Amino acid sequence: MTFAELGLSKHLLDRLAEEQYDKPYPVQEQAIPAILSGRDLLGIAKTGSGKTASFVLPIVQRLQSERPAQGRYINTLVLVPTRELAMQVAEVFQTFGRDVPRRVKTVAVYGGVSINPQMIALVGTDVVVATPGRLLDLLANNALSLSAVSTLVLDEADKMLDLGFADEMNQLFDKLYNRRQTLLFSATLGEGVQHIRDKMLKDPYRVQIDEQPRDLSQIEQVAYRVSPERKGPLLRYLIQKNDWQQVLVFVSSVRTADNLVIKLNKNGIRAAAMHSQKSQGGRTDALAQFKGGTLRVLVATDLLSRGIDIERLPHVVNFELPRSPTDYVHRIGRTGRAEAVGTAISLITPDEEHHFRVIQKKMKRWVDFIDSAEFDLGGV
Ligand code: AMP
Repeated sequence: MTFAELGLSKHLLDRLAEEQYDKPYPVQEQAIPAILSGRDLLGIAKTGSGKTASFVLPIVQRLQSERPAQGRYINTLVLVPTRELAMQVAEVFQTFGRDVPRRVKTVAVYGGVSINPQMIALVGTDVVVATPGRLLDLLANNALSLSAVSTLVLDEADKMLDLGFADEMNQLFDKLYNRRQTLLFSATLGEGVQHIRDKMLKDPYRVQIDEQPRDLSQIEQVAYRVSPERKGPLLRYLIQKNDWQQVLVFVSSVRTADNLVIKLNKNGIRAAAMHSQKSQGGRTDALAQFKGGTLRVLVATDLLSRGIDIERLPHVVNFELPRSPTDYVHRIGRTGRAEAVGTAISLITPDEEHHFRVIQKKMKRWVDFIDSAEFDLGGV
């Protein structure tokens, strides 16, 4: 199947080609025609499935035949659980909404940053991508109106509920106009999500993309035996000796993340931390620099790693192991994407060996061990 067969306009097909989206992903094949036909949609799909473009493309296409937004009356509302996702979704709208005859103006709004610039930016906006709490604040300030919203997207609805946004979501739902198209995306279909489906969707078209078991064969996995005090020096040694230029390092606490970043920078390896206690500005900058290649190491905790989409990451390091085998697979799945081969390196102390065996058993793959005791780490 091709994008052209899905009923997308020539302008969008050109943009897709420029963005090297060669053919639609399964969620796009199913969702795009249904959304273009005006139906409500229930999409059971995870980040990585291509779900964002599956709703962005038909929305941008529909907006082509609608008047630009007037004043503070936005047309499309996308609710998301986190600031990171808000920015990523807005970026996809900007990518596809730019070079079309009727430009689509998209603004991402989220908490943790000052509200005034967002209030100013909202004038004449077609699409708002928002986290629920900040959106309510903006509504309380009359910075926008939801009364003309004709498409509502609930993205990662299960995660919004997990993060405790149920009340905020209900308050927002009450402010919406009844005749609208609603698209509900969720990785899982738990009770809370079913409740939203029953309340908000009319005769939805259902798309379910079962996760393909991650093919781990493209990922080269290595584990280094190391004593706790030599972990930091070993990481620096590996980065420098192998000349790794883009490394995502996972740790289990904010404190370890910050300490590690200080040590790396002290040793001339540009690093930044990505965790819940960093300011929004700091997180955005770090991610942009890392993606752009000017930041060599990004040190992250698991919480923020989900949903961060970085294509073809060559090296992922488990500085500390995650608690669950599933998180381990998620972490290492950030490397070796598409056709690229990646390496996942775990630094294992004697105390962690048992836990690492459990992880390997669960993933049904055994990882080669290298003993680092003989490495001369003195120079790093
Ligand atoms: P998502 O699940 O929406 O976060 O998308 C995951 C990644 O897949 C993003 O980096 C997209 O840019 C990319 N992507 C989505 N659809 C396609 C496609 N049809 N062809 C190539 N890349 C795609």
